[in-house]
Amino acid sequence: MEERMPAHQSRLACSHLLTSSDGPPRLIGSRCRNCGEVYFAAGEGCTSCRSTSMDSFDIGREGILWSWTIQSFLPKAPYNSGETEADFKPYGVGYVEMPSGVKIESRLSVADSAKLKIGMSMTLAVEPYGKTPDGEGIFTFVFVPTQQTMEGTDNG
Ligand SMILES: [Zn+2]
Repeated sequence: MEERMPAHQSRLACSHLLTSSDGPPRLIGSRCRNCGEVYFAAGEGCTSCRSTSMDSFDIGREGILWSWTIQSFLPKAPYNSGETEADFKPYGVGYVEMPSGVKIESRLSVADSAKLKIGMSMTLAVEPYGKTPDGEGIFTFVFVPTQQTMEGTDNG
């Protein structure tokens, strides 16, 4: 299997949260060995049962849209897309509930409220969200409506 994002890796804002070694990107968190609670990002200890015995846990790449909104103004620092008030483009943000029950706060690929619906299936992807001062893309993980990934087209 080919490496999908080697050129991007150095510009990936969240490389510690992802794995892509055997195909498409997947989220990595941790799971409590004692009670099974899942955390994202990975934690050192369990806030539920106070155990410090944690395993790395593959959260996967598909979930259900649990809640969302449109970020319609430029967030304050440390948001670092390189955009200004003048060229800022609104984007969707939301919580995606994964099969393990953990909810992931994430940027969404869609910023159109007509295309977002609570309960819809979402798939993880890696996309550029900004540029460094020298013009290189900065990448992060986003969730894309699964329907859109299956159509293989971007009709937004
Ligand atoms: Zn626990």
